[in-house]
Amino acid sequence: MRLSSNNLLIAFLCCVALHAAQRADVVWTARYVVTMDAQHRVIDNGAVAVLGSHIVAVDTRANIDRRFTAAHRLDRGDAVIIPGLIDTHTHAAMSLFRGIADDMILQDWLEKFIFPAEARNVTPEFVLWGTRLACLEMMLGGTTTFTDMYYFEDRVAQATKEAGMRGVLGETIIGFPVPDAKTPRDSLAWTEDYIQRYRNDPLVMPAVAPHALYTNSEATLRASRALANKYSVPLLIHLSETPRDSDQTMKEHGMRAVPWLDSIGLFNGRTVAAHAVQVDENDMQILKRDNVGVAHCPSSNMKLASGIAPVTRMLALGINVGLGPDGPAGSNNDFDMMEEMNLAADLQKVATGDPRSVPAEQALAMATINGARVIGRERDLGSLEAGKLADMVVVRLDQPHAVPLYNIYSQLVYALKASDVRDVMVNGRMIVGDSHSLTLDTGVILAKAREYRQSVQQSLSH
Ligand SMILES: [Zn+2]
Repeated sequence: MRLSSNNLLIAFLCCVALHAAQRADVVWTARYVVTMDAQHRVIDNGAVAVLGSHIVAVDTRANIDRRFTAAHRLDRGDAVIIPGLIDTHTHAAMSLFRGIADDMILQDWLEKFIFPAEARNVTPEFVLWGTRLACLEMMLGGTTTFTDMYYFEDRVAQATKEAGMRGVLGETIIGFPVPDAKTPRDSLAWTEDYIQRYRNDPLVMPAVAPHALYTNSEATLRASRALANKYSVPLLIHLSETPRDSDQTMKEHGMRAVPWLDSIGLFNGRTVAAHAVQVDENDMQILKRDNVGVAHCPSSNMKLASGIAPVTRMLALGINVGLGPDGPAGSNNDFDMMEEMNLAADLQKVATGDPRSVPAEQALAMATINGARVIGRERDLGSLEAGKLADMVVVRLDQPHAVPLYNIYSQLVYALKASDVRDVMVNGRMIVGDSHSLTLDTGVILAKAREYRQSVQQSLSH
C-alpha cells in the first residue's frame, strides 16, 4: 500500500502523541513501592505519579519516567514508599496529658485523673494545641489519617486542616456534664451543626461519637445512630474494652453488650468499634454480619491490662480490623502506628501460641487497606493505586536496623520505626519533608505543650 503524504503526517503525529509524556504534578521514586493493592504488588525500583490530589500511576520508575513529566520529583533511592498509615482510634488532644497518670486500673485512671483533669483544663484552646502536638507526632511517624473522639471537635478539625492531615473526627457524646456540653442532647445538637459545617470538607470526615455503652443511655445511643445515618457519616464508640459493657447489659437486659447493641439497631450503619477485647464467638458473628469495623489498640489493651482482643479469630471471620494507638494519657502515651503494627502481630502470637498468627503482611494491611475499610474509605484510601487519593509515606532503609533486607514486610513491621519516616504526602500535598513538618511550627508547638504542663499540674494539686 502506498501512503499519501497526508497519511504519513497522521501516522507521524500519532506516533508523537503515543510517546509524548503525560503531565504529573509530582513523581516520587524509591527502591521499593509497597502498594497494598488487591494483588499486594511490591514494585522494585518503583514510582508513584500524582496529579492534583490523586495518584495517576504506580509502576516501575522506568515506566513512570517514560510516561510522565513531573513538575516536582523526589528520588529517595534507599527507601520504601508505602500507603499512608490509617489510625482508626485515638484521642489526639490528650497529648497534653501524656504520662499524667500511669500504671493504674482503667476506672481509677478515668475517674480520679482523666475526668477531673479534663473538667479543669479542657478548653477550645487546649484542644487546638493538644491536637497540633498530636498531629505533629502522627505525621512524623507516617500517619496520614486519624480517627478521633474528643471534645471541641471543631478545634480538632481546625488543627487537622492546618497540619494538612485527614481526620475522621467525632465529638464525644457522654451522659454527664463535660467541658463543652451539659447534656448528651447538647452534644447531639452540636454534632449536627458540626456535621453540616464539615460534611463536604476534603480532609475532615465528621462522625458521631457516643463515648461508650456504659456512659450513655439507650435513648442517646439510638439518637446517635439516627444522626449518623441522617448524614451518612460513621459512628465511633468504645466497645467491650473491659467486661463492664456486658456485665451492665446482662444485669439490665439479660444479654451481652454486642447482641443488645445489635437489638437496638446501633450497628445499623457504618460503625467503628474501638477495642472489642471482651467479645465471644457470638459477639464476633454479629460484628461480622453487621460489617462493624474494629479498631484494635494493642498498646492500650496491654498497658491497661484490658486483655487481648481475639484478633486472629476476627480476621478469620472476615471482620475488618484496623489499628489505633488510643489516648496518649495513660492508655498508651504515644501515637506510633509502626509500634502498633509490631505489637498487633506479636500479641496475637502470644495469645494463640502460634507464631504464624498475624504475619507481617497482615499487620501492615491492618494499618493501611483494612484501616480504610474500617472507616468506610477503601475506595479512595489505604493502598497505592491509580485513581486513589495521594496519601503516601517514604520510609528510609539506610539505618543499621534496616540492613540487610530480605523481606520488605518483615522489615516494615518488625524492624523499622516511626523515626524512619522521611517524607509524607496527604491529598497530593507534601506535609513532611526530610523528617520535618512542612505545615506545623514544631518549636512553637513544643513550647506551648511545656507551658500547658504547668497549668495541668497546678489544677491537679488543688
Ligand atoms: Zn479510646
